[in-house]
Amino acid sequence: MTPSFKVGDLEIKGYSDGILKTSLDLVVDMDRAHSEALVGGTDNGWLFIPVNNFVFQRDGKTILIDAGAGNTMQPTLGKLAENLRAGGIAPESVDTIIITHIHPDHANGLVDDNGKAVYPNAEILVHAREYDFWMAEPTGNEPARVAATRARNKINMKPYAERTRRVHDGEVILGCTPVLAAGHSPGHTCWRVMSGSDSFLAWGDLVHLSAIHISHPDTAMTYDLDPEMARRSRRRILDMVANERIVVAGAHVNAPGFGQVVRKGNTYAFESA
Ligand SMILES: [Zn+2]
Repeated sequence: MTPSFKVGDLEIKGYSDGILKTSLDLVVDMDRAHSEALVGGTDNGWLFIPVNNFVFQRDGKTILIDAGAGNTMQPTLGKLAENLRAGGIAPESVDTIIITHIHPDHANGLVDDNGKAVYPNAEILVHAREYDFWMAEPTGNEPARVAATRARNKINMKPYAERTRRVHDGEVILGCTPVLAAGHSPGHTCWRVMSGSDSFLAWGDLVHLSAIHISHPDTAMTYDLDPEMARRSRRRILDMVANERIVVAGAHVNAPGFGQVVRKGNTYAFESA
């Protein structure tokens, strides 16, 4: 069954892109025994986390949050389009794609193996800071991973060039507002989606390993481009959602991928919805 939750008049459904194999080696500032215990054990440090995407409908429009990895990373990923179809949502019917950040597991699925748009009728909403960073020409001085992602993002964004809208904090588009939470990437964005006086927050990769980063928000990942900024963003957003008790939907939060953050002393815990 498709996991879902309700916020105001909206019903938000979770659609998986698949399972990402990752490693506790990416976790910095924490000894291995501790991180192993938090995630409930691993296979030599390897663990598997979900890649969640979310869909809701408003005013007759179908809105998708992030686009998965496509056929570019691991054979267990790239399932989003077929999972949408199985759920009765043709990729052609998606009107808007909200992007949290333009990393491979969130954006490479925008195009197929030939670079053609998987969502041929969709407009893309992406924070200007994120778009401009990744679409900049290579300088030759950036880390190899940044250079590779920049090159790939030219392919991802090309068929959408005429229908990409660069947005800024505080704008409200289709009842959605970008909240910059930089650090993981320069324009990493949490999206606040409102329905009447209720709202939820799609927080992208604010939390990468949900079993670690919610209870230990100061623990950085090698994936965080600016770890110190990522820590501050994580603390700020966790504090906000715990205070407001709004539902959060995370790209890599363990099943079902959404729930509520509650304060626990100086840190936080997660309650699945
Ligand atoms: Zn991710």
